[in-house]
Amino acid sequence: MEFNYFMPTKIYAGDDCINKNAGVLKAFGKKAMIVTGKHSAKVNGSLDDVIKALKSNGQEYCIFDKVMSNPTIAISYEGAEFAKSEKVNFTIAIGGGSPMDAAKAMALLASQDINEEDLFKGNYKDCVMPLVLIPTTAGTGSEVTQYSILTNDRLETKTSIASPLLFPKATFLDGKYMMGLGLATTINTTIDALSHALEGMLSKRAGVMSDCLATKSAGLIAEAIPELKSGNISKETRDKLLYASTLAGMVIANTGTTSVHAMGYSLTYFKDIDHGRANGLLLGETLQFIETKNKDIVKKLLTPMGLSNAKELTDILYELFGEKEDITEEELVKYTSIAKKSGNITNGQVPPDEETILNIYKKVFLK
Ligand code: NAP
Ligand code: FE
Repeated sequence: MEFNYFMPTKIYAGDDCINKNAGVLKAFGKKAMIVTGKHSAKVNGSLDDVIKALKSNGQEYCIFDKVMSNPTIAISYEGAEFAKSEKVNFTIAIGGGSPMDAAKAMALLASQDINEEDLFKGNYKDCVMPLVLIPTTAGTGSEVTQYSILTNDRLETKTSIASPLLFPKATFLDGKYMMGLGLATTINTTIDALSHALEGMLSKRAGVMSDCLATKSAGLIAEAIPELKSGNISKETRDKLLYASTLAGMVIANTGTTSVHAMGYSLTYFKDIDHGRANGLLLGETLQFIETKNKDIVKKLLTPMGLSNAKELTDILYELFGEKEDITEEELVKYTSIAKKSGNITNGQVPPDEETILNIYKKVFLK
């Protein structure tokens, strides 16, 4: 049996895991920069828990709380300058994928001089400030990936910095921070994680280890769908979704994503459609296309979810997402020309050609 697998992040999971493992932070240095979004970390208890842990270790900290959704290149440089001026030794990010991804870019840029033109080229020096990530959404899996995905205005899309140097040293998974997460964000992020699991299995780089993690993740997410539909999400399900999302992150760290993510980026960039929702709207129709080429691979993906075909998944997703956004055919043609240039398109075992990409977009938005 031949496969590769790598994931160097230490995972601490469970109730009060930050408090119980506060000593872990000591190893990373005297002063931390805490990176968050504008609001949620202050109200869900996660920021307080991190500050308490740092204080109990006698460590100093400063807070950078300006990260917006779909973080920009500019905010990454701003955070890096702040880290340098505050002379911090390590970075702790708390939040969804946006603060976590921005913090990765900040840790890289604070540790070495990189011009904006070279930011996505990958030739980095082997020195990046240690990163500790605390996810408060269950979706991106960024806490266990080497990707930092930034809004790239020059290319009118989202672009990844991908480097093994960006793997966090540690992550803390505590579902209690998500008890106040709104239903729409909960659904969107859950379906982002599902997309990672399923796209991971569709990737050319899939192997037995990543398939094993993906199958478990997709099965856990399927168990949560009735609660997502009801809008009543228990603590047990929050914990399960966080676990599923980290598993799916461990998948894409090894397989990358495929055409669903490549096509979703334009929906986010031009229409401000949330990342997970963008993927979820495209996922069902994409699997229906793949089913026409390779029924077995789609069956392998859907069996762990208790589903027998891609149409069943499409119906579930459309029910969860409700009314779709208005997008014109002209806009979809533009998105097609952007998506076809993305490396993720050819990462799938059954990659769509240009005509198929447009057809999938049309089936989702013009039906
Ligand atoms: P997000 O943009 O990080 O957060 C969405 C919203 O949820 C924000 O308004 C945030 O508020 C709020 N929020 C976060 N945690 C909360 C909580 N516990 N309770 C209440 N509200 C909370 O969304 P995301 O979907 O997690 O991340 C999306 C980003 O991740 C995209 O940029 C995407 O490209 C990227 N991504 C990265 C990877 C990777 O491997 N690195 C993979 C997939 C996606 P605040 O702003 O106040 O915190
Ligand atoms: Fe994603």
